[in-house]
Amino acid sequence: MASSSTNIKRTILNEDLSNVEFETSEDVEVIPTFDSMGLREELLRGIYAYGFEKPSAIQQRSIKPIVKGRDVIAQAQSGTGKTATFSISILQSLDTQLRETQVLCLSPTRELAVQIQKVILALGDYMNVQCHACIGGTNLGEDIRKLDYGQHVVSGTPGRVFDMIRRRTLRTRSIKMLVLDEADEMLNKGFKEQIYDVYRYLPPATQVVLISATLPHEILEMTSKFMTDPIRILVKRDELTLEGIKQFFVAVEREEWKFDTLCDLYDTLTITQAVIFCNTKRKVRISDIFLRFLDQNVFFFFLK
Ligand code: ADP
Repeated sequence: MASSSTNIKRTILNEDLSNVEFETSEDVEVIPTFDSMGLREELLRGIYAYGFEKPSAIQQRSIKPIVKGRDVIAQAQSGTGKTATFSISILQSLDTQLRETQVLCLSPTRELAVQIQKVILALGDYMNVQCHACIGGTNLGEDIRKLDYGQHVVSGTPGRVFDMIRRRTLRTRSIKMLVLDEADEMLNKGFKEQIYDVYRYLPPATQVVLISATLPHEILEMTSKFMTDPIRILVKRDELTLEGIKQFFVAVEREEWKFDTLCDLYDTLTITQAVIFCNTKRKVRISDIFLRFLDQNVFFFFLK
């Protein structure tokens, strides 16, 4: 009996850890514009030329601490602007006069590693930056040639990167930052050992930036082994606003006034198509009948 209750506790504990969400560290500053981040001129040009106007929530909080050299754990879902967050931070931290690998970025898939390389090259368009995608399934000789030429940033998958380090083609002595993107996915894909292998070859003072949508036990273990006094940044879904989409709300005091308010909106605005989410099936049915009667192109949804 005693042992089974212990087992249950363990399972619950693991369960909790796999969904753990921490609070953002208290000392995290929010910087509302790219201009006020103290970024180099050529990088700012690259950011604006890429079409970014305003930093996203994670960019407002994470770029400054990464650039300052702090270890950072960012918990964020995809689509929050995290690739651009660390790409901008990486570019700001580079000494482009030194043609040696200074930043290593590990990702769980080849596609992601290539995507990161593209973003770094695009944002760093005015910086004369060399960034190589070091991924499996490509020609080894070509990889060696590119690395020999000298790359400021290497974005790759753990297996091929470790292979290149072991062959001494990828020299690690000037590396000052390690980015672990989608760290939880890397562990799911069984890359744990390779990540530890790569880490062992890096200079002891290497800054570590870890990005993960979830923080299971193995990630927390990794953060405690690799990182020193990390700043934690949590971006929740509901904190996101999409660029180019204006959001409005009408505060309606009583539930029974909602439908009239909706009809008022339809009277005053030209709405060609709409999707409306309701919290009961009944409300979907009633509202749907009325609006269809008015010949509106509208879809109602009830999500259970
Ligand atoms: P993630 O890595 O979290 O999935 P990305 O950095 O790839 O997010 O950003 C998602 C999308 O939003 C991309 O198309 C990217 O170009 C765009 N984006 C990122 N940051 C900004 C910004 N500050 N302003 C406008 N668009 C942005």
